[in-house]
Amino acid sequence: MFVDSHCHLTYPELKDRLPAVREAMAAAQVDRALCICTTLEEFDAVHALALQYDNFWASVGVHPDNEGVQEASYETLLALAARDRVVAIGETGLDYYQMEERKGGRTIADMEWQRDRFRVHIRAARTCGKPLVIHTRDSSADTLAILKEEGEDGSPGQAGGVFHCFSETREVARAALDLGYYISFSGIITFKKAQALRDVAAFVPLDRMLIETDSPYLAPVPYRGKPNNPSYVPYVAAEIATVRGLPVERIAEITSQNFERLFSGVTAGTAT
Ligand SMILES: [Zn+2]
Ligand SMILES: [Zn+2]
Repeated sequence: MFVDSHCHLTYPELKDRLPAVREAMAAAQVDRALCICTTLEEFDAVHALALQYDNFWASVGVHPDNEGVQEASYETLLALAARDRVVAIGETGLDYYQMEERKGGRTIADMEWQRDRFRVHIRAARTCGKPLVIHTRDSSADTLAILKEEGEDGSPGQAGGVFHCFSETREVARAALDLGYYISFSGIITFKKAQALRDVAAFVPLDRMLIETDSPYLAPVPYRGKPNNPSYVPYVAAEIATVRGLPVERIAEITSQNFERLFSGVTAGTAT
């Protein structure tokens, strides 16, 4: 019934608990999940989940925050994207959050390597026709500009994709929608102070929204602060349902349909 469009099941908080997580998912009617890759070093482990379980799929990409890891060439991304059950490129994008603390005082101008990496992912996605899973934090103007420069302008035949864990303004959502992209909401939408994000959820067309956990991070209320897992994605759906004045079943149904439309080949799995 529900789909978690973005989770990190290979992270230490979750990888040893997979049987329990899968049981919790089944109990919560979370039928499917997209397992997200953030380094090439972890790709095999992420991919193995998708090969082992018929309701998991995988992405391939290197997260913009990761330094000192193997860089993803265009050729490598294409080769890994061609593997069975790899349905997306990412997560990729830009992250200028807390530059002083997190990037050792470097400036946005110093982040050219992030922008180069992002462009390589976009080019690979456009070649293989698989959608992008985009991470953008404090960097939406550059993210949107680079997508457009690389040809992702909403025209037919583009890679398309999703702005995951959306936490930007309505204007940024509008711009992403205008490029033909989807918007994915995480547990942040349940946080008390997230009224602005709930307003975005009131605005995004139903046929362009996805739901996700981004687990093990960002557990929704009432689990805020605890390790997250895909079985909590119904809390995200329930919050959107409240915002839209619709039954949660409707949000589950439409976000599942959107997931299938965006990521081709994700219909085979059923809860096991
Ligand atoms: Zn992310
Ligand atoms: Zn993520």
